[in-house]
Amino acid sequence: MAAEPLSPDLAAEMPATRGGLAALVARVRSESAALWNLDRDGSAAVLKGRAYRARRQRIRLLRHAVQGLFLALVLWIGFDFVRWVRGLEAGRIVGSRPPGVDGFLPISGLMSLRHLFHTGEISPVHPAALVILLLVIGMSLVVKKAFCAWTCPVGAISEALDALSRRLFRRRLSLPRWLDLPLRSLKYLLLGFFVWAIFFRMTPALVGEFLGSPYNRVADIKMLYFFESLSPFALKVLAGLGVLSLLVPYAWCRYLCPYGALLGISSLLAPFKIVRHASSCIDCGLCARACPARLPVDRLARVRSDECSGCLSCVADCPVPRALRLEAPSPLRRPLRPAIAAVALVALFGLGVLAARLTGNWQNDVPAAEYLHRIHELDGPQYDHLR
Ligand code: SF4
Ligand code: SF4
Repeated sequence: MAAEPLSPDLAAEMPATRGGLAALVARVRSESAALWNLDRDGSAAVLKGRAYRARRQRIRLLRHAVQGLFLALVLWIGFDFVRWVRGLEAGRIVGSRPPGVDGFLPISGLMSLRHLFHTGEISPVHPAALVILLLVIGMSLVVKKAFCAWTCPVGAISEALDALSRRLFRRRLSLPRWLDLPLRSLKYLLLGFFVWAIFFRMTPALVGEFLGSPYNRVADIKMLYFFESLSPFALKVLAGLGVLSLLVPYAWCRYLCPYGALLGISSLLAPFKIVRHASSCIDCGLCARACPARLPVDRLARVRSDECSGCLSCVADCPVPRALRLEAPSPLRRPLRPAIAAVALVALFGLGVLAARLTGNWQNDVPAAEYLHRIHELDGPQYDHLR
């Protein structure tokens, strides 16, 4: 069949479309280069106008790109897992279970950590829960609580609610210091409770019993069912947390998240911290205003706080690129450029998962046939929590 000739209109548009595509590719390339080279020379000039806005947006874009990547990964894992469970319910094994879903089992991960300390071995039941826990702690040992600001989906939701709150109230609301300080200790108390219960109250035998229990073997499906059929009480709690996060931005992260508390402690050892170079600083205070953790960045030489998430909002808003940087202490004293920080965090996570796969510590030991059998008896008493 002879090809139909292009209409004169379409033919006339083709060079423009090609030109548009070429312009788009050139734009993406130059923007990628600009992102990569961001702060490479660490100029001491005070940025203004378009140059200031461009640098600010680029640093924010880098973090949001990483956040988006992890959010997409979490959604993909979630959809894949739901599809797999729906197959089991219908008596079929559809595809394979995504091991990353174990990341939603923090208690199982902590139990495995205790098991690892005692036996030197990784429990084969939901091993990815422990791998992800160790990777997240590993991230905090490099760049503060980077997991919270760069990869955690709850952190991303909290950030979106913070933006909405600022739009609604035209400023960032916060609690007075006398109330903020004691409330911040709540997350440490929650963490203390879990550590006490798992590492001191439970015997190694009981931890082993939990890890091999019917409940833990199908904890991923139990967790899915919990979120799919939230009780009225759980719904009220979630709605309450949403409203609270509008009135007190980052309320969950700042006051209640035990995971954040754990990372806050390990982040104290991180070599890379925000460093303010007083010689370049013009005392504008923009960094402190940008900080979601309400840290007085403009008055500190080095931000050591357990609340710092390494989000780089202060660096983005600083008009003097050389004044505020993510930096390791002497003798290293090397700044970590925003693009390198982004690549390093993604690479650390990716390499960790790859290493776990290669060493056989990623795939769950529970066979699909066992899930197929157990899924129809989940209401039985053997699937209740161990007491
Ligand atoms: S704005 Fe700066 S000091 Fe504040 S949490 Fe983010 S990186 Fe840390
Ligand atoms: S470090 Fe803070 S106070 Fe100093 S110039 Fe940068 S934004 Fe302004």
